[in-house]
Amino acid sequence: MRKNKKLYKRLARRHIEELFSFAERIQKVSQELANRAIEIALRIAKHYNIRLEKEKKQRVCKKCGAFLTPGINAKIRLKAKTIIIKCLHCGAEKRWPYVKENIRKRSRSNN
Ligand SMILES: [Zn+2]
Repeated sequence: MRKNKKLYKRLARRHIEELFSFAERIQKVSQELANRAIEIALRIAKHYNIRLEKEKKQRVCKKCGAFLTPGINAKIRLKAKTIIIKCLHCGAEKRWPYVKENIRKRSRSNN
């Protein structure tokens, strides 16, 4: 049973990857379909208790659930040590610290 659970989780993760890349491709044609794909991906992640990577989280508006691509439907601004991603659908802003992360990553790869 336990092995099965692991397998399902792995499959779910792959499914999420596919949904995100699908959203990326379909967005130019239909934002609505991209949003739907993301909605499904998030539902799968929740169901299997999968944590999305930061790269993926940054692409989804928390407020309206839209799949965001900078230059298409999102604006990115850098302010001091914060990256601000603004959703152009609902105007919600997400903030992420980015300098700290880079330093941490760098020191980790030096080990
Ligand atoms: Zn939004």
